[in-house]
Amino acid sequence: MQSRWQDDDANACHGELALRAYTSRLLGQDPSLVLHGGGNTSVKITETNILGEAERVLYVKGSGWNLETISAAGFTPLRLEYLKQLAQLPSLSDTEMVNQLVTHQTRSAAPVASVEAILHAILPHPWVDHTHADAIVSVTNTADGERRIREIYGDSVVVIPYVMPGFDLARICADRFAVEAGVNTIGMVLLNHGIFSFGQSARESYERMIALVGRAEEYLQQQGAWQHESAAAAAAHGMDLARVQAALRLDISRAAGVPMIVARHADDRRLAFARRADLAMIAQQGPATPDHVIRTKRLAMLGRDVAGYVARYAEYFQAHEPHANERKVMLDGAPRVVLDGELGLCAVGTNAREAAIVADIYEHTIDIIQRATALGGYQALPARDIFAVEYWDLEQAKLRAGGPRAPFSGEVALVTGAASGIGRACVESLLARGAAVVALDLNAQVAAMHNSANFLGLQCDLTQEVQFTQALVQGVECFGGLDMLVLNAGIFPGGCRIDALAGDEWHKVMGINLDANLTVMRECHRFLALAPGGGRVVVIGSKNVPAPGPGAAAYSASKAALNQLARVAALEWGADNIRINSLHPNGVFDTGLWTEDVLAGRARQYGLSVEEYKKNNVLKTEVTSRDVAELAAALCGPLFARTTGAQIPVDGGNERVI
Ligand code: ZN
Repeated sequence: MQSRWQDDDANACHGELALRAYTSRLLGQDPSLVLHGGGNTSVKITETNILGEAERVLYVKGSGWNLETISAAGFTPLRLEYLKQLAQLPSLSDTEMVNQLVTHQTRSAAPVASVEAILHAILPHPWVDHTHADAIVSVTNTADGERRIREIYGDSVVVIPYVMPGFDLARICADRFAVEAGVNTIGMVLLNHGIFSFGQSARESYERMIALVGRAEEYLQQQGAWQHESAAAAAAHGMDLARVQAALRLDISRAAGVPMIVARHADDRRLAFARRADLAMIAQQGPATPDHVIRTKRLAMLGRDVAGYVARYAEYFQAHEPHANERKVMLDGAPRVVLDGELGLCAVGTNAREAAIVADIYEHTIDIIQRATALGGYQALPARDIFAVEYWDLEQAKLRAGGPRAPFSGEVALVTGAASGIGRACVESLLARGAAVVALDLNAQVAAMHNSANFLGLQCDLTQEVQFTQALVQGVECFGGLDMLVLNAGIFPGGCRIDALAGDEWHKVMGINLDANLTVMRECHRFLALAPGGGRVVVIGSKNVPAPGPGAAAYSASKAALNQLARVAALEWGADNIRINSLHPNGVFDTGLWTEDVLAGRARQYGLSVEEYKKNNVLKTEVTSRDVAELAAALCGPLFARTTGAQIPVDGGNERVI
């Protein structure tokens, strides 16, 4: 455990709050200390209020902020003396505690304070840091965790038994601290939860956290519990595993009631963990720290029996719900973490970002479980304690803060020819609706088109079948399956009349516009048939299908053949609940094909200005890539749920087509 403190960076901070944000970010940058919203920090500052009176103010991390990226605006100012009086009450309900926190902040626009705010208030030191460090929970999630913590730290920390976060925990900490804290005390260990450090300065509190966690890491090393084995992964049989994964995703999505992303992680380390002989023992104890439960659920699913997992989840709910203070509604019973000897680790979320959070948390959980096991046995909190946190309104509120569900949330789309023009616009329209998108293009720049967990850009030559199947397998590994397919890739060679049309030219156009699309459709079919909400295919055709033009024989013939292929697919795939519809765009000029020069030349040919040429249709309107893409996305949505085999023009109206 290394300190990340830099004098230059610290000196650049103006004021205590900026410094508070700085060392909070240092904690947040180390995922072995805090993960995804875990941990919190505070500082106590004297400020002058509007009446001119000096007042002690506690600035504590606001909920919804991550330590990794927090700024001064992420801290909530609370009246410290009032909070200390609150801590004297014998009890306080969650609702009233939140109400008291909100009504005693000194800035109305600040975020709602962390639920651990009162705990920060009762600690006498001005600077307080709190993390869920892997090393601490590795040591405390064991049968004799408390003894080990006392052995490691002696009188430098106060040890607190597990109590659910919130008012009761703050009360117990206040009582214990008053009795046990002495001149050597620099921190506080919360068994099965995490650790606090504190000090007179930002640096002192931060460096004490690093030193305290470092001592637990050294202890794990001395006990031979730090490194663990990893086994070489079995040779991956990509397509077969991808099918297994997509079938698993269908079962999980049905159990969840909505489509889910199922991301597979099969590196050596995670495969080795999933294959451990004692997995049923060590991976069925519970999470490393209670607030992970809202992301990972209490237990990982071992193997692929989703129905069995759901039944056990319902039993767990029925066993613990009657003891809750108020009636609870059962959450979906689908697993969020799957451990399987063949698949490795699968992380489940309602979108790719959530699945990535689950994967991160469980990666650390694997370390913690293995180290605690090496110490003599991983032992998480009893199920009743985990249930209390899982069904705690204040935890569920964190998930609800994500806002309403996007229409294609949890669904996966594959778009070909995705780096430019209509394909690029389709990627944007699908991402905007919450879909995870696998974008394929011959152009390598496709990989860097979007920086989003929902986006995977892969360079791929669709005429090379092996390249395509590899890309498909990679897409499935990343997101779990395939729900939507947009067949967009195609070429439009320069004008050439039939009497001069060379065989090579003809075959090249057919190879890309027709043959490659057949391969894509055939290979995607098995995955589309496993789509939780039914598979959807959109074919980007052409006005040339109903109304061909002279000089475009190869292009028109290829698009017409593709159109016929799509119609047959609509007939054959209906039984698999896959819809396939075609769009016939025309005069879409904001694509790579149409440079200013080409456009000007073509307009001159027709005796029109460029502006007139662009709107040379019945409605006298311009048709953009975005117009086509929005319609393609709508075709995948509920509005067209009962439409298959349709061909829809998107051309501003063409007299020959009409
Ligand atoms: Zn905590």
